[in-house]
Amino acid sequence: MEINEIIKDQFNDVWFATETGVVKYTLETGTQVVYKSSFNNKKGLPHNNVSDIVFDDAGKLWAATRKGLSYFDKEENNFLPLKKPEELAGKWVTDILTDINGDLWLNINNNSVARLKANQKDYNIYHVNSGNRLDFFSSRGFYNFGNSDIYLGGKNGIIYFSPYTIQENQLSPKPVITEIKIQNEIVVPGKEINEDTPLKKDFNQTKSIELNYKNRNFSFQFSTPSYANERLNKFEYKLEGFDDNWITASSNSRTVQYTNLFPGNYVFKIKSSNSDGHWSDIVSYKIKIKRPFWLTYQALILFLLLLALILYFVRREVKNRMRLKQELVTEKVNRERDIKLNNEKLRFFTNISHELRTPLTLILGPVKQLIEEGKDYSNEYQKSRYNLIHQNASRLLNLVNQVLDFRKAQTGELKLKVSKTDILQYTKDTFDSFKEFAYNKHIQLSFNTENESIVGWIDKDKYDKILYNLLSNAIKFTNKYGHVDLFVGIKDGDEGYLIIEVSDDGIGIPKKSQKKIFTRFYQATNSKENNTGSGIGLSLVKSLVDLHKGSIKVKSTPNKGSVFTVEIPVKRSFYKKKEVFEYVINKDRQEITPQIPVKKATTNTEIKEKILVIEDNLELRKYLIDYLSNYYKVYEAENGEEGLQLCRQIKPILCVADVMMPVMDGLQFCKELKNDDFISHIPVILLTALSENEDKVKGYDVGADGYLVKPFDPSLLKSIIVNIIKTRLELKSKFSDDAESEIGLLTHSPVDKALMEKISHLIEENLSKADLTTSFLCEELGMSSSKLYRKIKELTDLAPNEFIRTIRLKKSVQLLKTKKHNVSEVTDLVGFNDPLYFSRCFKKQFGFPPSKLLK
Ligand code: ADP
Repeated sequence: MEINEIIKDQFNDVWFATETGVVKYTLETGTQVVYKSSFNNKKGLPHNNVSDIVFDDAGKLWAATRKGLSYFDKEENNFLPLKKPEELAGKWVTDILTDINGDLWLNINNNSVARLKANQKDYNIYHVNSGNRLDFFSSRGFYNFGNSDIYLGGKNGIIYFSPYTIQENQLSPKPVITEIKIQNEIVVPGKEINEDTPLKKDFNQTKSIELNYKNRNFSFQFSTPSYANERLNKFEYKLEGFDDNWITASSNSRTVQYTNLFPGNYVFKIKSSNSDGHWSDIVSYKIKIKRPFWLTYQALILFLLLLALILYFVRREVKNRMRLKQELVTEKVNRERDIKLNNEKLRFFTNISHELRTPLTLILGPVKQLIEEGKDYSNEYQKSRYNLIHQNASRLLNLVNQVLDFRKAQTGELKLKVSKTDILQYTKDTFDSFKEFAYNKHIQLSFNTENESIVGWIDKDKYDKILYNLLSNAIKFTNKYGHVDLFVGIKDGDEGYLIIEVSDDGIGIPKKSQKKIFTRFYQATNSKENNTGSGIGLSLVKSLVDLHKGSIKVKSTPNKGSVFTVEIPVKRSFYKKKEVFEYVINKDRQEITPQIPVKKATTNTEIKEKILVIEDNLELRKYLIDYLSNYYKVYEAENGEEGLQLCRQIKPILCVADVMMPVMDGLQFCKELKNDDFISHIPVILLTALSENEDKVKGYDVGADGYLVKPFDPSLLKSIIVNIIKTRLELKSKFSDDAESEIGLLTHSPVDKALMEKISHLIEENLSKADLTTSFLCEELGMSSSKLYRKIKELTDLAPNEFIRTIRLKKSVQLLKTKKHNVSEVTDLVGFNDPLYFSRCFKKQFGFPPSKLLK
């Protein structure tokens, strides 16, 4: 074992520094303690190889190992490693000396010598860089010579120095910045980086630098001109405006980097210390990072200005839009108001027009009567006056009708109802009605066609109005001695289309007006001066033509004339099923049946028949009663309800009822009447101001027997009444006289029909029975005999027993016609007892003997 040092302490203990630890040998007792290193490094020697062991002046025991200095702690009774100062901790110490000041001198491997002051806090480290390399492993040759000089032996010589004269390095020069880099590029004065020359002169001279915004990422490298042990130089720096505290840097990290600094003024402060820990003065460098343009005040102002400008424009735009919107809304409101007003106007006109129709009826009717009656004994003057009244009242009526139609066209209420018509004849009739008008104006009217006959499907009402408007316009807008032509024909190459052409050589229509004349209330400027009008005529025509699935065109030259061409389809296939109306034809015919001479009717009825007139308008009612009283005993009622009551009381032969009435209208009246088996047989004629076909259909649906549109000629009403009564009578007599006639023809309401069917069924089922009598029927039907008698009498004009006989005889006809039975067989089958009696009755009923049917 190698012993490196032996010392003795005041207690006469001997301490050995050995390769394998420290050994304490107590002389008195001869005992020894060995101190070794431990694994945890907290207690015990740092290393087992102890190169030197020394007591300092304070009596503290120090041991030098290759892993640092350690001292002996009495309380622990062990060595503890030296932790502070850090620079000395853990260093390989080969020798230790004490000097007269009580300082410890350490010979540290790797060419340094250190002094640990007696306070054990301050220290100095001296590097031996004289070029002489000292022997690494030497743990000798470190000697304190007489407390004056310390000798240090090396491989190539001996160094010595006096610990008293050794001076600390007081010089601590100011640090300098040796290098500036921007984006990793070294900046030298005059160099341009990012369109800028940050340095004009040396940085250390000017101590200030201005960087533009793009160059705000930079780094400094600094140094201090202190070359004694420069590795031990230290630096402290801070960037005022960015760093809050000083940052320490050692000599081997002498760069600092700053990135993304905000624009502004900064001061970079730096100081350095030399190897002896003396700090230099602070050096300050001003650094200014310029604002980029967009961060300058000007830019800000510009930006604010721009923002204000944008805001201003946006606001203006928004305001504009709002104003536009407001205007639009106002416009819309105005338009809606206009439309509403227009509709109101139209509604008002319509209502007035409805009101006008009744008085017009009251004018036209009597005038027509006067004209008729005055044919023989009025003088010419009177006749012309009557005609004038009639003409103008008709004109007024036409206007009123036009307004009504127009309103309907506007509200889409007009419905198309086409029926098969002799178009040519129909057109000619309408055309002829203009002759007088044209004659007065000395206008030559001509009707042209190439066809002998045109038959097709049209809505006569609409067609008439189209024609009427075009013709009256043509005459209206043509001056005296002009010409108006009407051409009607089938379209070339398309059989399904009818062409109507109304041409005149009148004032014509300016080009720019031609498109507008079909809009409502439009009147071309050319016509305004000399014509009154409303501007609804052509608009109505257009609506009607459209409704009729046709088209209308106009060609016109001012002062030369105009041609209106209308094309409408006339084939049935063009129209939908519900637009085709066949039923009305017969009824229309009925309405135009030639008037039966009034006189004859009066003579026919000796006892006046009862008629009930139900009409809410007092004047019209009085007028009708006045007129009809000549022929009938007329009763009156104000509304349907009253009428129904009266009807039950008086049982009139016929009722005339207005459709529009308060309390109960005509349709309802008719419906209730037809469902009351007490009065269901009474025929009803409906009067109405509605000229539409659907209303007629409604009327017929509820079982009305006749229908008359206001205004009407009272004589027409009269003839309808006569007709209905007559047909009823005829049917009744036909029923009894004609073997083939069916009972169904006699019933005019569903209740009656059901009852009669039931009765005839009962009779037919029990035909062969001799006891098929009235009382049998009453029993079976649960009816009183008086009621049965009344009902059968009303419907067939026969007493029940006569009715039963008639049915029997009718059945016998059927049986005989089959030629399967002879007369006596048939007599039995139909419930007669005696063939002779049967033959007599048969002959009396049908006017021929039964045997005739067997031949
Ligand atoms: P109104 O005849 O009531 O003024 P219309 O709707 O029937 O209204 O006609 C509209 C306008 O068309 C008329 O005001 C007139 O200027 C013009 N017009 C219609 N038919 C003819 C025509 N045959 N010749 C010249 N102008 C016409």
